[in-house]
Amino acid sequence: MATYEYDCPRCGRFETNQPIGTASESQDCPGCRRPARRVFSAPHLTTVPRQLAAALEREERSGAEPEVVTEVPPGRPQPAPHPVLSRLPRP
Ligand SMILES: [Zn+2]
Repeated sequence: MATYEYDCPRCGRFETNQPIGTASESQDCPGCRRPARRVFSAPHLTTVPRQLAAALEREERSGAEPEVVTEVPPGRPQPAPHPVLSRLPRP
């Protein structure tokens, strides 16, 4: 089911719930029974706090286009080499 919005020239806007793809161009107004035209409006999106939205966007972008670095960024401690690396054969 989806919510479709119609605009009655006399009573104003009203919503109907119908199966997706079955909404007609006009619908009888439940108040005055006159035909009301269908209107298209923005979907009812949940409001997400700005900081959370930025974090989610950064996380999504990181998965698709990770930032590649070739050295430790300045100001961060130099990581110790992984212990396994010492067991690698040396030339
Ligand atoms: Zn009406």
